[in-house]
Amino acid sequence: MEQISAAHRLTQVRLGIQGASRQAGREAADVTLIAVSKTQSAEAIAPLLEAGQRDFAENRVQEAAAKWPALRRLHPDIRLHLVGQLQSNKAEQAAELFDVIHSVDRLSLVTALIAAMERTGRRPRCFLQVNLAGETQKGGCLPDDLPDLLAAARDGGLVVEGLMCIPPAGLEPAPWFALLAELARRHDLTGLSMGMSGDYATAVMIGATHVRVGTALFGERVRAAA
Ligand SMILES: *Cc1c(COP(=O)(O)O)cnc(C)c1O
Repeated sequence: MEQISAAHRLTQVRLGIQGASRQAGREAADVTLIAVSKTQSAEAIAPLLEAGQRDFAENRVQEAAAKWPALRRLHPDIRLHLVGQLQSNKAEQAAELFDVIHSVDRLSLVTALIAAMERTGRRPRCFLQVNLAGETQKGGCLPDDLPDLLAAARDGGLVVEGLMCIPPAGLEPAPWFALLAELARRHDLTGLSMGMSGDYATAVMIGATHVRVGTALFGERVRAAA
């Protein structure tokens, strides 16, 4: 029963991405659907793996370390994304665990990731997270700080794929997505990690290359994610 409904939700979200892509004159294949599996058990994740989903995201290093090594042994082609704030002292563990880090947002973290890459030999791809509205409780660099952060990341050899944002809650997301797309264009970046369960179709129409979807795939989270 559970299995049928998870696969069904995956189909619905894929259709949503296809519809939005078609409306925008884009190829749905240019949009990566990332299933945000924070707080979800391996049992909840299994039906999505069986349905062919391979990109997953967590927001905490510890939780990912507990859940994903075993799942990866079963499915070595999984790509694991980190979408939560990363402490510099966990950079090395994050480099070992994750293929893509969406939350690079400050110089000290760039420095820690460069050192972690050297120590581990791993090269996770990175998105720089931008705090577009300057919300104090949220991660992300301020738009004014982006040029210096990007320069430091590129100089140090980080593979910067694009920009990531979480728009302010309760506001129309489209203008924020458009602003992120404009910032990316200005800096010759092609990746745009934006759009969640409530607004991924809007994000795709504005150019998202990576959408991060949790609730629409797994249902409501039982316990709160940090
Ligand atoms: C939890 C989370 C998501 C997924 O949110 P849903 O509303 O459940 O789709 C996406 N991005 C980030 C950064 C998150 O922390």
